[in-house]
Amino acid sequence: MTKLEIHQFPCLNDNYGVLVHSTETGETASVDAPDAEAVLAALQDKGWSLSAIFTTHHHHDHTDGNAVLKEKTGVKIYGPRGEAQKIPGIDSALSQGDTFDFAGIEIQVLDTPGHTAGHISYWIPSEKVAFVGDTLFAMGCGRLFEGTPAQMWTSLQKLMALPPETTIYCGHEYTQANAAFSLKIDPDNAELKTRAKEVAELRANGQPTLPTTLSVELATNPFLRPHDAGIRKTLDMAGATDEEVFTEIRERKNRG
Ligand code: ZN
Ligand code: FE
Repeated sequence: MTKLEIHQFPCLNDNYGVLVHSTETGETASVDAPDAEAVLAALQDKGWSLSAIFTTHHHHDHTDGNAVLKEKTGVKIYGPRGEAQKIPGIDSALSQGDTFDFAGIEIQVLDTPGHTAGHISYWIPSEKVAFVGDTLFAMGCGRLFEGTPAQMWTSLQKLMALPPETTIYCGHEYTQANAAFSLKIDPDNAELKTRAKEVAELRANGQPTLPTTLSVELATNPFLRPHDAGIRKTLDMAGATDEEVFTEIRERKNRG
């Protein structure tokens, strides 16, 4: 029985805001705070009041709402220990292995550096859900602004080890562009081709393509599939390590 209701809404250009609400205690957390006005509007829509912010990383499109939301609602702000000085209003600095209680539910913290040096993800095992910020996207992964490919590959492997049925919430709607890129890297993947068509339809109808699940990503996201023989053939990297193949895929994505 799930105890949390999760409400995702688009904001800014292509960000998602996510509210996590306990139907038992009435507490509500915002995963990141891209834009205070959008978060407040979503809270009003749902009739919920804010008690916490779970910050994944310091980028402004994930933290710009912190100050206003804290001033207006007195929320407790959780965020990454490794970049705590860059998180406005942070009350509780977290890193790998930390757990905390939200509405009687245990939240586990995973260090997932690569996009930023201190990026963290929030995993709720009992609800089979994870909030991964800009680490993992549908058929993509975050750009390496502050980390190395090796760090990002380690972070992604940590997410890959979660239960496959885990629902994954991401920071951005990048899915359609990611699908087009993924088809170039993994052109013979039937599941990927089907997913790309579904994504195109959803976007044509103005629908979100997220959240996703880990099992769908494991089958279709080339950044999680450097071991795949077809991808290795496309890249002519049959004898390379997974990390080398991952690095090559990330570099190709950077080039467009
Ligand atoms: Zn970011
Ligand atoms: Fe972002």
